[in-house]
Amino acid sequence: MTDVVIIGAGTAGFSAAIYAVRAGLSVRLLENSLYGGQIVNSPDVDNYPGLPEISGVEFAQKFYEHASRFGVEPETVSISKAELAGDVKRLTCEDGSVIESRSVIIATGASHRKLGCPGEEEFTGRGVSYCATCDGMFFRGKTVAVNGGGNTAVEDALFLSNLCEKVYLIHRREGFRADNAGLNALRARKNVEFLLNKTVREIKGSQKAEKLIVADTTGRADMELPVSALFVAVGFQPNTALFAEQLELENGYIKAGENCRTSLPGVFAAGDVRTKEVRQLVTAAADGAVAAIEAGKYLA
Ligand code: NAP
Repeated sequence: MTDVVIIGAGTAGFSAAIYAVRAGLSVRLLENSLYGGQIVNSPDVDNYPGLPEISGVEFAQKFYEHASRFGVEPETVSISKAELAGDVKRLTCEDGSVIESRSVIIATGASHRKLGCPGEEEFTGRGVSYCATCDGMFFRGKTVAVNGGGNTAVEDALFLSNLCEKVYLIHRREGFRADNAGLNALRARKNVEFLLNKTVREIKGSQKAEKLIVADTTGRADMELPVSALFVAVGFQPNTALFAEQLELENGYIKAGENCRTSLPGVFAAGDVRTKEVRQLVTAAADGAVAAIEAGKYLA
């Protein structure tokens, strides 16, 4: 019986693991994919105090090394069922094995939101991508588009403008969620064109994506945009499917306050999966610490 099982080895999960193990609790850190979480897709992380000019991959590596020093390493486990009520929490894995614990910290983060337009699924991996840093190189010297108005879209467009001949930034309104620093840097790029008040209506092509049908939100006629790739950066959706029927959610996020306690005793939510105002690395790390401390109090 483990004291704390942490689901998700991103920033919040690693932080929770480090705090929990240092508090003398037995810990298992479960991850169904690569460790590191969303940040591994960021080429540059410049806003985590004390770690300037670090790449997302290096950042994740540092968390991994830190947790390993205390004897916690992420285990690759895919959970198919979670029973969270009661004193013993039971997680059933896809291979049929069962993990039991006295408390659970959910740090499953969020996944890329889809556009839901025709052609998106068909051309995913053939011109439609959700990760500019992973796939940008395939479109070196080509014309591409990025869709979105947040920091990810701006960061992606900046990254792609170093590689591609031309980058369109398509956003559904005129105001941006992205920080001004990134936006101003993007505006200064000669090979970047902003297409505002626009949405992607359809992605067309034969073997691979070849053009976008772009709709105008102010009522102007649709336009055809020949591109080799579309990078979708329209935000994230919380990964809560496993827990949705047992925990209270709000807009899809697990409802939990600053103490990370959920609607069930012994179950905590940390990082992007939790209801919160600011979703940043530093707040995810803070959540991990708080959730581990709260788990310790609960177990005591
Ligand atoms: P985001 O901030 O939620 O922005 C998503 C963008 O996509 C918004 O501009 C939104 O438009 C647009 N959008 C949403 N659904 C859409 C749809 N169906 N069709 C067209 N457009 C749609 O997401 P994000 O940029 O991925 O960032 C997520 C979080 O990570 C944020 O807190 C961000 O600051 C943070 N982040 C930080 C860094 C960094 O600090 N280096 C880098 C990346 C991300 P509206 O604005 O009209 O809603």
